[in-house]
Amino acid sequence: MNILIAGGNGFIGSHTYISLRERFPEAQLVIVDNLVNSTHKTLESLRKMTGENILFYEIDLCDEQALAALFRGYQFDGVIHFAGYKAVGESVVNPLKYYTNNLNSTLHLVKYCLEYDVNKFVFSSSATVYGDGVSPLMESDALLPASNPYGQTKAMCEQILIDTARANPEFSVALLRYFNPVGAHESGLIGEAANGMPNNLMPYIAKVAKGELPILNIFGGDYPTEDGTGIRDYIHVMDLAEGHAAALERLSSGVCIYNLGSSKGTSVLQLVKAFEEVNGVKVPYQIVERRPGDLAIIYADASKAEKELNWKAKRTIKEMCQDAWRFEKHDVLI
Ligand code: NAD
Ligand code: UDP
Repeated sequence: MNILIAGGNGFIGSHTYISLRERFPEAQLVIVDNLVNSTHKTLESLRKMTGENILFYEIDLCDEQALAALFRGYQFDGVIHFAGYKAVGESVVNPLKYYTNNLNSTLHLVKYCLEYDVNKFVFSSSATVYGDGVSPLMESDALLPASNPYGQTKAMCEQILIDTARANPEFSVALLRYFNPVGAHESGLIGEAANGMPNNLMPYIAKVAKGELPILNIFGGDYPTEDGTGIRDYIHVMDLAEGHAAALERLSSGVCIYNLGSSKGTSVLQLVKAFEEVNGVKVPYQIVERRPGDLAIIYADASKAEKELNWKAKRTIKEMCQDAWRFEKHDVLI
């Protein structure tokens, strides 16, 4: 089996490489990535972790000619598509950048899948497509308007893939709606190594614990939750990665949609306290104004994935905090 992992050098893609290798030891795995939000260091780590030469192509998915040559060179059986921009705030300031990259990369991949008879497609979607829907969120819930262009690109890509599958019955699609992926591989060799300032909570906590950032701003202490801070569904990135391997294995026809989350809510303060406790560090914080666009409570009902994919998030908040910290510290050690 030949699998193309688009955006496979990024946070979730690199962990998925490890899960795919474990589940499909004989498969040929090919990574394509333009390194806009990742570096060669991740490839070196993957090499170290697997002991194999990583098949990597530095290609921008917006470059149709380069992509066509790649599809000509391999007869892929499936594509897992992680590539895209993901910073919500930046998408509000620069929407065209997001529409151009996230839509074109998807359109080009789908076009060559159809041209070269690649019939399995797994797409990185997001809980953001549920807009301000009420949790627990289920796959059958209505998609509500996303509050930012990033979320809008996810909903649009989902629609492109649904329409394509409808018109091409041999083309099967899994839309995986992620909740809040955090943590890192337990080796500490790969993790969330974004370029620049972290936007998300866990990497921000880790940078504050390390002393690289002075204080964590907690956005809002007056939400209608037990401790007043926002509640999210954190999922360990290795659990998420395993969800992709399970979805690819089970994919047979049509469009399948799955929430990948833990089905549990954790508040910002609970996450900060857990991080401090399990790692024996201090995370100075202050409560500030709510962040515009944030909802009070978001968590999944992930029972469909459990039933149909035989997949369930198993790792605990404690493991998420330990692994995120191990990866953060590892950067200092090497
Ligand atoms: P990431 O930025 O770490 O990985 C994306 C990878 O795609 C990067 O290595 C980047 O260099 C590459 N890339 C971007 N545009 C490209 C292009 N045009 N051509 C080739 N490569 C390109 O992001 P991630 O956290 O691993 O997220 C993966 C996917 O999951 C994204 O589509 C993201 O929107 C989605 N998602 C992420 C989260 C999250 O919290 N991390 C939540 C929901 C959905
Ligand atoms: N958050 C916070 N401070 C930060 C980053 C995030 O208080 O520096 C909160 C945010 O308001 C939300 C939760 O942490 O309640 C998760 O935010 P994140 O940006 O990680 O993911 P989101 O759920 O917005 O996709």
